[in-house]
Amino acid sequence: MADAAGPDMRAILSRLRHGTAPDADALAAVARGLADGSVSDAQAGAFAMGLCQAGLDDAGTVALTQAMRDSGRVLRWDLPGPVLDKHSTGGVGDATSLIVAPVLAALGAFAPMLSGRGLGHTGGTLDKLEAIPGVETVVTAAQLRAIVAETGCAIVGASAEIAPADRRLYAIRDVTGTVDSVPLITASILSKKLAGGADALVLDVKGGSGAFMRTRGQAEGLAQALVRTAQGAGMAARAVITDMNQPLADAVGNALEVAAVLDVLRNPRPDDRLCALALALAGEALALGGLAGSAAEGARAALAALADGRAADRFGAMVAALGGPADLVDAPGRHLPRAPVVVPLAADRAGHVVGIDGVGLGDVVVRLGGGRRQAGDRIDARVGLSRVVRLGTPVGAGDPLAMVHAATEADAQAAQAALRAAILLGDAPGAVPPLVHGRVG
Ligand code: URA
Repeated sequence: MADAAGPDMRAILSRLRHGTAPDADALAAVARGLADGSVSDAQAGAFAMGLCQAGLDDAGTVALTQAMRDSGRVLRWDLPGPVLDKHSTGGVGDATSLIVAPVLAALGAFAPMLSGRGLGHTGGTLDKLEAIPGVETVVTAAQLRAIVAETGCAIVGASAEIAPADRRLYAIRDVTGTVDSVPLITASILSKKLAGGADALVLDVKGGSGAFMRTRGQAEGLAQALVRTAQGAGMAARAVITDMNQPLADAVGNALEVAAVLDVLRNPRPDDRLCALALALAGEALALGGLAGSAAEGARAALAALADGRAADRFGAMVAALGGPADLVDAPGRHLPRAPVVVPLAADRAGHVVGIDGVGLGDVVVRLGGGRRQAGDRIDARVGLSRVVRLGTPVGAGDPLAMVHAATEADAQAAQAALRAAILLGDAPGAVPPLVHGRVG
């Protein structure tokens, strides 16, 4: 199927066009060709579109995932504890990785997390971490190893050597309307996670108005595909299906979310949604990694590690190792950047919060400068939203629905108008979905 000049894409694409998906050898050849450039952009676009149309069965999805993993470097760890990883399919106000990684490190696991940047309306863990002055998330493999060995956790960017076939295919999918395919999303996410070399992976698969999967059914379908594929590729995995019909934390925006994380690390409250989800995910990871007898026992250990400051210590050590201030946890106000304009959005009527358009809310933050509209845009870490009201909350006319943090008065005014459209008030309280819908694996 492949020769020195690359795979026979004409034959592969022609069969795909008639509904026959490539076999494992052909998928491996395509992945190599994506990485070495012998597959052209046009062929890669046709390949992605063909797979969207023809679909890919479980064995094919495992083969594509492994082929994309093997297109680059695969990390191997030799550490005195399980190597655990966590991935979220993307949401709004969700900085749980920044809590889960140090919690796992505090409890005897190692958590090297190769994380991503904001995508569309969703925030990215690396952008949040880089809101901390001095933090540098682009590190060499040797630095990553040293930081993980020293602190137990490191949240860093995936280098260009990790799953290069996915890096190329993802960019092409982005401009060919082919992102939205369960096998392609599954192979894309897991090729990078497998290349990161963890023993076990916990997936937070989000469904709702602020997620890529809008319904719970779609989220369940993706969760099942992710877990089956990870297990098929030899990695222990479990997925938690969680609600994204409102932001996870009441803060959205890079520095504001780091402040929310520090709040959890300093003063954990299990009734707080960000804290509760971090505990649930850490509990699942600890159970999967053999450090807890069950997810519930793991969650209890995680709460103890938060309550006595061990997780905060690990977080502080990681931040310092990545170039940030050594006293961030004790003195966040000294370091986190603040927006010059902070104004409330007042409710224009009395009622109950019955809907939050998560994409709309995320887009407000992007337009304030907290995310990218085009690749390469600079992020303003200071901007975003805080004190965003929760679904079901009763409000009076004039009550604040959120605080807008902006670089200028004009930006704040534009954000207020868009935000008003994203927060829906009704006469009666609607149903509030539970934070966790269920789990797979
Ligand atoms: N995140 C990824 O890494 N890949 C996808 O295809 C979708 C989300």
